[in-house]
Amino acid sequence: MNKPPIRIEEDASGWTVTVNGQEFSGYIVDSRCDTCHSVIVYDMYYDSMFCPACNEWTEKYPICSDENCPFCSKKRPERPLRETVDGAPAPELPFVIVQMP
Ligand SMILES: [Zn+2]
Ligand SMILES: [Zn+2]
Repeated sequence: MNKPPIRIEEDASGWTVTVNGQEFSGYIVDSRCDTCHSVIVYDMYYDSMFCPACNEWTEKYPICSDENCPFCSKKRPERPLRETVDGAPAPELPFVIVQMP
């Protein structure tokens, strides 16, 4: 199967990451996915990290049991990427990182 690699663009400001056209406020963290060895992206909005290649958050949710928690009350979606990625890691070249000028 030839799955296209996930395209990950990091804005020069370091505060926006675009994954297959979907924008996240956050940045690429210095850590790799245990499953597919892709880079991990930190999403500031949900205060959560995810693997864009697996389309999986790295932490359980809600993070805490506080109903008034500003992060947990945002109702994080089940998967970080909205569409196309079916959740299975790509076999090779799971991602490309594009540094924006
Ligand atoms: Zn992964
Ligand atoms: Zn919380």
